[in-house]
Amino acid sequence: MPRRNSNAPHIPVVATIDIGTTSARAIIFSQEGEEIAKHQIEYSTTASETPAESQNTDQFRRRSSLLRHNEPIFTAEGIAISITDDVEIENNSASAGPTLRFPQPGWVECMPVHILANAVQCLTACLITLRKINQNPALSLKYKVKAIGIANMRETTIVWLRKTGKPLSNGITWTDTRTSEIVQHLEKMIDDDRKEELKQKTGLPLSTYFLAAKLRWLLDNDDVIREEYEKGDGNLMFGTVDTWLIYHLTKEKTFVSDVTNASRTYFMDLETRDYDDDLLDFWGIDPTRIRLPKIVSLSEFYGSFAAPNLSQLGFHNRITQEAYDILKAITGVPICGCLGDQSASLVGQLAVKPGLAKCTYGTGCFLLYNTGTRKLISEHGTLTTLGYWFPTLEGEDGLPHYALEGSIAVAGSIIQWLRDNLKLIENAKDIGPLASQVPNSGGVVFIPAFSGLYAPYWDGGARGTIFGMTQYTSSSHIARAALEGVCFQVRAILRAMANDAGASEDFLEEALTNQNEKKPLLALAVDGGMSKADEVLQIQADILGPCVTVQRAVISECTALGAAIAAGLSFKDPQDRVWKDFDDVIAKVHDTKAEDRNSFVAQLADKDRRARWKRWENAVDRAKGWLDEE
Ligand code: ADP
Repeated sequence: MPRRNSNAPHIPVVATIDIGTTSARAIIFSQEGEEIAKHQIEYSTTASETPAESQNTDQFRRRSSLLRHNEPIFTAEGIAISITDDVEIENNSASAGPTLRFPQPGWVECMPVHILANAVQCLTACLITLRKINQNPALSLKYKVKAIGIANMRETTIVWLRKTGKPLSNGITWTDTRTSEIVQHLEKMIDDDRKEELKQKTGLPLSTYFLAAKLRWLLDNDDVIREEYEKGDGNLMFGTVDTWLIYHLTKEKTFVSDVTNASRTYFMDLETRDYDDDLLDFWGIDPTRIRLPKIVSLSEFYGSFAAPNLSQLGFHNRITQEAYDILKAITGVPICGCLGDQSASLVGQLAVKPGLAKCTYGTGCFLLYNTGTRKLISEHGTLTTLGYWFPTLEGEDGLPHYALEGSIAVAGSIIQWLRDNLKLIENAKDIGPLASQVPNSGGVVFIPAFSGLYAPYWDGGARGTIFGMTQYTSSSHIARAALEGVCFQVRAILRAMANDAGASEDFLEEALTNQNEKKPLLALAVDGGMSKADEVLQIQADILGPCVTVQRAVISECTALGAAIAAGLSFKDPQDRVWKDFDDVIAKVHDTKAEDRNSFVAQLADKDRRARWKRWENAVDRAKGWLDEE
């Protein structure tokens, strides 16, 4: 066979893996941010495993394809890329059952080997698409994967054995609350000064979210893990999803964690970007007994891609020879970008200058506000996190950038509640049209505090409340008030963040009159399911006022794009990079033609906006402490 000339002119593209909480996907991006190939696997999110209770949904069908014996796991464009072994699949074998598991109320586990297999399957499917595109004779230059990037759900804890590479337990996902007793106990043990000291170092409050509590739980409750820990022979390994994937997808078995993921462990000092002895000690972790991954930047060479041996990891749905052949197209390609999902969408939204913010309206809502090289500790209860760090870039862009992070527990889920519990709509997409049947909420304020109020209000005793209804109130008013309830909270968080960054209390209003002042926030870049509705974004723009433009991402897969940017910029020599620097990314990826369609500016009169904001704040005051009064 003639040897292919790998230096032949080609079009460089970046392959990405994006591991979400409920799905895995791979996307291959062009330099223009175009999706050349994409494949996604969704997981079942029901606690039940029986088909009847899964209601034969698409999700179940996709999951069941992992279960059925003697059939391809999935086919992409007619090619079976993975088949089951002849081995009988035992119920407790690594490959049986769903990726996500709900063994007890409040417990959410994931199967690390499934996640790895899903990532490989998605990548393979994308490569099949790419091969097909490259076979088109009309294409004068072929696409070639130049770099691989990874984005992942954060705070999910995986422990495995170095000897075998196999996990010692299921992964504990970020939403799992089994550690609440550990956290409550620690809260009681320490005084306010100590809490403040920990917050200054980590940027985080004590919470069930972060990895430290989950690792502590595993050491306290899992006999096998504890035994390995006590042996202390260097065999026990700990990591987040990024660490797990990079370990198994690199020829070198590289054991690293990118700094944005590591900043959520509660073991890392935000200033030094390294593990801190005092923090490890606080959680009773001896780093000589468990290996912690080396903390690295999100944009550098980690290792060269090599397909993992899934059978050796106990995953019986072994990859076919054909699939391995397809994966050869990227064998040796550098894995050189990796970041946690919220940082990834900050980068993918191109919010790479201080003062830019992004908001992802999914089931819940995640806001990140880029504070540049300044590490700010919030006075208003938002978290401090590592936004991104691109060490290859020149000047300020090459320094670690921090972000304030705030979340709203109920965002898109309020739409699901209106659909499923109140039956106001049939589909989520009907919410915009319903809400826009009325010009305003008719005086109704809906506080969607189903599980209390989070930042910046912090009131665990608040509950969902609807104020101001009259005989005149219609379902459209309620729908509109529900959407406004999410958007008012976004305003409150942004105001608090800008305030932490030195802006005055009411910068959104003051910037209207003071044209010379440097505005602390110019645009809010938005993405996520709920941002698909123009009506939601117009309401958001009206609530924020004319100082801030709401800008919907033209590329909806911002998280994966962030991983592509990290990988594409990682090469030391700018000539080798897919993009030269941030300006080059913005110039190539930013579609100015689509900007108008996706930009929302306030249309509401100033006095109406102020009156509505006041009414919202009054309503919040009344909703607070509802449970405390029982
Ligand atoms: P997640 O990543 O948290 O699963 P997504 O970004 O997929 O979330 O967003 C899902 C949410 O978006 C759902 O809660 C749904 O209510 C909402 N949603 C989906 N489509 C629309 C739409 N067209 N209009 C308004 N909301 C929508």
